[in-house]
Parts: sequence; C-alpha cells; structure tokens
Amino acid sequence: MPDTGANDLPFPDNWRRRDLLELQCLEADEIQTLLDTAQTLKDRTGGGRKRLSLLRGKTCANLFFENSTRTRSSFSLAAKRLGADTLEFSSAGSSVAKGETFVDTAKTIQAMGVDWVVTRHNTPGTPHLLARELDCSVLNAGDGAHEHPTQGLLDMLTIRQHRGRLDGLTVALVGDIAHSRTARSNLWGLRKMGAHVIVCGPPTLVSPRWAEIGFEVAHSLDEILPRCDVLNLLRIQFERQHARFFPSVHEYAALYAMTASRMRRAKENILIMAPGPINRGVEITPEVADGPQSVILEQVTNGIAVRMAALWLLAGAADRQAAGEMTEPTQVSQPQWS
Ligand code: ASP
Repeated sequence: MPDTGANDLPFPDNWRRRDLLELQCLEADEIQTLLDTAQTLKDRTGGGRKRLSLLRGKTCANLFFENSTRTRSSFSLAAKRLGADTLEFSSAGSSVAKGETFVDTAKTIQAMGVDWVVTRHNTPGTPHLLARELDCSVLNAGDGAHEHPTQGLLDMLTIRQHRGRLDGLTVALVGDIAHSRTARSNLWGLRKMGAHVIVCGPPTLVSPRWAEIGFEVAHSLDEILPRCDVLNLLRIQFERQHARFFPSVHEYAALYAMTASRMRRAKENILIMAPGPINRGVEITPEVADGPQSVILEQVTNGIAVRMAALWLLAGAADRQAAGEMTEPTQVSQPQWS
C-alpha cells in the first residue's frame, strides 16, 4: 500500500478543538469542516485504501469498555491509513478486573505516549471526564445512550455524497430513539446542517420532549414515509432497556420495519440507512437491507473517512496549541441529556 505523498493538506482556520466529544456542542461550520476534510481524505486515499503519512509518529489508543465491530476497527484503520500507530485496549482481561478505575486505566495508557484516546463506555459523559483528566485528545466512540459523534458524521457524509447537500432534506430516524446515541448525534448534527428531522417510533421510545425542542415527532412510519428523503433505521437497544417498551418484536416489526411493500410507498430515490449492527426482520427486512436504495455498507466505508478527518483535525489543533500558534483553549463541554 504505497504512500501517495499527498501530505500538503492546508489546515482549516476554523478548527481549534483537541477533543471530539459530541455533535451537540459543535457549530455548523465545524461540522462542515469535518465533512469536507473527510471527503478530501477519502478522495486522496482512493476511498480509504491508500496510505498517507499525515500522522506518522503519532499513536492512537482504542479504549473500549463496550462491544464494537465497526467503530473500533474503523478507528484503527483510519489511524493506520494516515501513518499512525495503534494500541488496542479491551476491558475484558485487563486490570479493570483488579479494581483499577476508568480514569487510572486511561492515564496508564496515556503514559505510554499516546496522542489520542478513542473511548467507548456505557456511561454517558465518560469521554468528557477523560477530556478533563488527560492531556492527549479524546474521541467519543459512544457513551451510553448519549452520543456517537463519528456515527452522526459518517451518516451525514453518506447523505451528502448522494444528495449533494443536507439542507432542506427530510430525514427520519426510526426506532429506539430513547436509547440510541446514534439518534442523538444525528439529531443535533442534521439540524445544525439545515435538515428537517423526524423522530419516529412507539410512544414509549420517542419522548414528546423532542417536539418541545423543535423536532418533528411521529408514531406512524406509514404516515411520514411518502415525504422522507432518508430513513435511518435504528436498532432496538435491548442491552440498554430495563423494561418492556412494546408487546413483542413481531408487533414492532409490523409497525416500524422497512419492508419491500413499504418501499413501494416511499420516494423512488429514498436512501435507506442503518448504523449497524442490523437485526434482519426487526427494523429492516433482508430485501431492503440488500436492495438498491440501501447505503448501509457505504456508511461503513465512510466511517474510515470521517475518523481520518477527526484524528487529523484534533492532532493539528493539539500541535498548534503546543507550538503556541493557537492560544484559545478548547472548552470541554458538559454532556446535556435530552
Ligand atoms: N453501532 C451503533 C452504536 O454503537 C448502533 C447500535 O449499536 O445499534 O451505537
């Protein structure tokens, strides 16, 4: 895999952050920068297949306290594609089992000379805590049901590649809004970028509070379907549910699964998205998941692009701050619950 030598990327003037914790606290122009940088890096790496040396000499640590297939491997590949080293940590089999705290574990990993800690944890706000405790950059790879910023970014990048814009599109997030961090990152990100966002699902999983803060709330997929440009079908987060939120999976699927017959009532060019893992037959049927309108695997490919962009931008801000070229400190936001 040759280095293409295309290492002359100009650093964007508007980027000052050392951490990527959530989309709720980002400005629209910062999201734009992340998406534009992701697109540039995707193009320059031939779709994420060629190597650049933009981040040579740096190390990215993955600190995962929850399961992951896509996000962990995608962050690792993104770091490697830009020439960085990677360090993999899983709580299973580590000193966490001997009573070491989350922060002590993270500080131990940081002491090995890492530049970014990518963290996933089932407690909302853990990346924010690490950002205050660590000197290196922190990236949130999912904190409970709170946010999953790189998922929101890769979803927006995928929509933008197909539609050329986000502004003015109608995007429905369907399913377990209550427990989905993907939903929250999409909600904040899409709204800042000018999309009309509908949250749709059973009343037990879609709070009316979303309407109070300006999002459209719907409980019937069939009613909203004809006006949607994009459907993002979210998994039921059984691992975060401590009660029964609908009578049976069969009943949920009858009302909210995207099926071939529902596809016939949707816009012809509708985009079908899902963050994965998908549960075939629950939120989506196989013919839709594998059908021509599905961009589910493109989302995975775009995950590498947005993670390359995030790593590069955060490292650039950190280097500029260390060199005294960027004096304004980045504020660590407090996670806000909605
Ligand atoms: N992979 C996504 C997440 O970690 C979505 C999901 O698990 O349903 O949040």
